[in-house]
Amino acid sequence: MKAIRIFGSIPGIYEGTTFRNRIEVSLSKVHSPLQAGISGSQKEGADSIVVSGGYEDDEDYGDVIIYTGHGGRNIDSGKQVTDQELVRGNLALALNCQNGLPVRVIRGAHDKSIFAPEEGYRYDGLFRVEEYWKEKGKHGFYVWRFKLRKIDYSINPRGQEFHEEAEEYVKAKRVETRIQRIIRETSLSNKVKVLYDFKCQVCDTSILTNIGAYVEAAHIKPLGAPHDGPDTLDNLICLCPNHHVMFDFGGFSILQDFNLIGIEGKLKVNANHKIKREFLQYHFNHFYDEKNRIP
Ligand SMILES: [Zn+2]
Repeated sequence: MKAIRIFGSIPGIYEGTTFRNRIEVSLSKVHSPLQAGISGSQKEGADSIVVSGGYEDDEDYGDVIIYTGHGGRNIDSGKQVTDQELVRGNLALALNCQNGLPVRVIRGAHDKSIFAPEEGYRYDGLFRVEEYWKEKGKHGFYVWRFKLRKIDYSINPRGQEFHEEAEEYVKAKRVETRIQRIIRETSLSNKVKVLYDFKCQVCDTSILTNIGAYVEAAHIKPLGAPHDGPDTLDNLICLCPNHHVMFDFGGFSILQDFNLIGIEGKLKVNANHKIKREFLQYHFNHFYDEKNRIP
């Protein structure tokens, strides 16, 4: 049976946990592959990486790591001998960037970085992939670079609510819940994108990037207080970024028969996609305002 890839923290493995070798790291599930530096798939994204200083181009600033992708190296010498491509683990990390997935970072001992453990390996928490680009490395070949930033556990997205229970344990638990929620949302939003073949339901646009088509999943009745729309497929539509912004800010709304109001056209709806009409009504009532429209 194929193991399920876990994005986010591994239950029971806390930040700062140390391991003597890659076998121990692998057994803990914090980074399963025994040799590869990137654990992931080019369909799902990367769940963990090992930063071990093996690559001359890596830069470690603590909360920010400039991580170099893999490929193009001579197996024996470890030297870069051809350009790296945006495939496999590199493509997986790029997907993290596009979909907002966190990646577990494990640092290995080496003498080039003050942030590395003195020996063995250490789990250093969750990072997000902020951006990625390619550049010529010190050896003259192109490498893919990923800017990772540590996810700040102290940011509380819901304001005062949690302040009275400020113990570390509660805090850690809350972060875990939040991360798991982000992952759940991501996989659901992927479903609606696949359903529409990564095309906007309003204008049919599919935006091509270097890792494939880009489109966004939009909640009809927004999540969170005070709207408290559900995170379910019947409350999601697939939109290009322009139409997503217009929809969120009331530039148009969708009538019960899927005709658009505010702009011309009709929402394209897949027969397998049961959009709840009450959410459309909610959006129309709360976000669409005819008199503020430019004629
Ligand atoms: Zn569109």
